[in-house]
Amino acid sequence: MTTHLMNTYARQPVAFVRGEGAYLWDESGKRYLDAVAGVAVNGLGHAHPKLVKAISEQAATLIHTSNLYRIPKQEELADRLCALSGMDKAFFCNSGCEANEAAIKLARLYGHGKGIEVPTIIVMEKAFHGRTMGTLTASGSRKIQAGFEPLLSGFARVPFGDIEAIRQVAEHNKSVVAVLVEVVQGEGGINVLPSAYLVELRQICDAHGWLLMLDEVQTGIARTGTWFGFQHSGVVPDVMALAKGLGSGVPIGACLARGEAAEVFKPGSHGSTFGGNPLACATALATLDVIEEENLLENVRLRGEAIRSGLRQALASVPGVVDIRGEGLMIGIELDRPCTELVTVARDAGVLINVTADTVIRLVPPLIYGEAEVNVLIAAVSGMVKNYLQQAA
Ligand SMILES: *Cc1c(COP(=O)(O)O)cnc(C)c1O
Repeated sequence: MTTHLMNTYARQPVAFVRGEGAYLWDESGKRYLDAVAGVAVNGLGHAHPKLVKAISEQAATLIHTSNLYRIPKQEELADRLCALSGMDKAFFCNSGCEANEAAIKLARLYGHGKGIEVPTIIVMEKAFHGRTMGTLTASGSRKIQAGFEPLLSGFARVPFGDIEAIRQVAEHNKSVVAVLVEVVQGEGGINVLPSAYLVELRQICDAHGWLLMLDEVQTGIARTGTWFGFQHSGVVPDVMALAKGLGSGVPIGACLARGEAAEVFKPGSHGSTFGGNPLACATALATLDVIEEENLLENVRLRGEAIRSGLRQALASVPGVVDIRGEGLMIGIELDRPCTELVTVARDAGVLINVTADTVIRLVPPLIYGEAEVNVLIAAVSGMVKNYLQQAA
């Protein structure tokens, strides 16, 4: 192992050399069922032939040109994403934090356009929006912020899912320009925002001229069983951030906007060298094609429901299991105690899982899971949870 990497990750002692579908293989030839999918990135699983073909062909044709010029694939991707989401315009970047950073800048510019000198964005407790200075300030975790002060000004924090708290801010803070929220908090512990909350939030935003900005970096691109998480509620945002699943592992992010918000950026207000290059856009277009061709929205709903109900059955009345929740293939199992050790237990057993917020097992498998993978995952996870809770008791 090299000592020349900065010490930013507590990496697990395993390296994968190959992947196919829902499975990965390590250097020793051991096979793993993947329920992490590169943290909700590899929606099509590994080495999907259609994706590999699209990437290879585009790489052999044109990888990058620059946003100095028209990029037809970027225009095509913007059209597709807007048609799927009901948004009007897209800006492309390379990651989730950049997509949120674009949203934050857009909201501030929108505020200044309305004569608000110190525009404020409402953000949530336990939120995760990324690691840039803007997005770590927007995130609701001291662990992410500590040591990086001074943080940015212009954010007001409220508890997740508490509509009264939003009303309070609306009454007292006249400098609010936008609300930024995840439809399902990922890093925060798979916390699902009720549809009724989003409906009310939309009304409050409309009444005050605020932008409703959704961070769909983890929930977007079919993860919850609809193209975007907000589509469960019928509410449409003004701004939406995408990344993770959009490029199936080739880095791409997008900030989509609608109506007035779509007209805020002008030439010179924002930009990116790599954002939306031909390779990334061809990959994203192929990702959308495969999701449609293989009917993955329905698959996600079906498999997600099967995993949740299977886990509920297997773990019914097991003391220490606090909750089993989620939407589509974004699933959380909350225990009454820290359970990070389970990641190692599962890996030894040939299953890749993740633990977030200390006590929540997070399952974000590839969208292509079949019945066999569902059954293996239910049996493995419920078995190790039962064992773990018994041992620790
Ligand atoms: C992962 C994630 C981000 C950050 O994305 P990066 O690509 O790591 O910058 C932002 N928001 C949410 C909801 C995420 O899950």
